Amino acid sequence: VDNRRVLVRVDFNVPLHAGPDGQQTVADDTRIQATLPTLRELLRRNARLVLCSHLGRPDPKVGFDRALSMEPIGRRLAELLELEVRLPDEVVGDGVTKLVNDTRAGQVVLLENLRFEAGEERNDPEFARALAKLCDVYVNDAFGASHRAHASIVGVPEIIHDHAPGLLMTRELEALSRIVDRLEHPFVALVGGAKVSDKLGVLVALTERLVAGDAIAIGGAMANTFLLARGASLGSSRVERERLNDCKRVFDKAAARDVAVLLPVDLRCGGSLTDSVAQVIHVDEGVPEGRMALDIGAVTERLFANTIAKAKTLFWNGPMGVFENPAFASGTMAMAKAVAECPGYTVVGGGDSVAALNMSGRADAVGHVSTGGGASLEFIEGRELPGVTALAAWVDPTFRGTRPVEGDDA
Ligand code: ADP
Ligand code: MG
Repeated sequence: VDNRRVLVRVDFNVPLHAGPDGQQTVADDTRIQATLPTLRELLRRNARLVLCSHLGRPDPKVGFDRALSMEPIGRRLAELLELEVRLPDEVVGDGVTKLVNDTRAGQVVLLENLRFEAGEERNDPEFARALAKLCDVYVNDAFGASHRAHASIVGVPEIIHDHAPGLLMTRELEALSRIVDRLEHPFVALVGGAKVSDKLGVLVALTERLVAGDAIAIGGAMANTFLLARGASLGSSRVERERLNDCKRVFDKAAARDVAVLLPVDLRCGGSLTDSVAQVIHVDEGVPEGRMALDIGAVTERLFANTIAKAKTLFWNGPMGVFENPAFASGTMAMAKAVAECPGYTVVGGGDSVAALNMSGRADAVGHVSTGGGASLEFIEGRELPGVTALAAWVDPTFRGTRPVEGDDA
């Protein structure tokens, strides 16, 4: 990379909020921090850095949108790197080409939001060529975006043969591979969160890899649908009735393998998501009409924690309740503690799950905190990530992304 233009696809899709002066600022820079080792290493090796990322969901028909500009992210990155970060006001174009070609070794350019260009999500060959013209080497460090076959993820590495995974990408693949194909038993999957439909595929795929003694512990809104499938009354709780059959499939597959499916035995309920008092209800009594299950109860916390304590490998995705409201955060915080204290190898993935883990102050005690939500779930489900396949194609056509490259120092 010495004195060459290195395009690094990063995942700087971070939450923003308005600062005291009304200016947009980065609310949580975890994803920026996570890619610093790659950027520092490239700078140390005298690369001319060109960074690109998407941010939010701008309307590509509109193009530039001030509210989703990379500008606040560039400012935060400049602070973290203690370097000037040059910010063109577009993704590609004559101005960008000139700026990139004027960039010297050790200097950094951050392109505008990739999604200002309609060609990004469509993986348009012309847009991929325009990006490829900006570099000699391509590095993908955007694990969290690598489940999408977009131009900056798959189009560019098809053109630029000098390509490699970044250090964050490598770390993610290594960590998640320990759950996909080097699973140590007993394995515990702790799942929760809001949407059963998004996560059922992962649960079914996981169940198929489990053996007697493993366990799946289910909390959050996800548990409601599973409890309903077991015949419990859930009152006005959030449930996905069209998923009841899929829940039964999970029960059947788990039973056939002697895998325990743990569901809440007590629930903290409220009249609305913003209620400030939690009422404890035993699942056998049923949740009355007008009340909703918003967190797991204390007995369930102990039940889940006891199982977690015995895990050799653990994966956690999805909060146990509406943890954003302190009245319903207890279950999620108790699980953060249990996962942190688990002596086995632990992986936590998912935007809200990681936010909850950070809130608990226990992230340091977890084996791996994944920066990818959807990408980590698809990987665990056993699906190929297009971005990983695109990188591996020139190296080893049989590579499917679930095997770390031994002795590769990137
Ligand atoms: P992740 O981002 O970690 O993948 P999800 O997005 O699936 O997690 O779920 C997180 C959301 O689920 C949180 O906003 C939380 O408030 C909500 N949630 C958890 N339990 C419940 C519940 N019992 N009822 C309603 N919402 C819930
Ligand atoms: Mg989420």
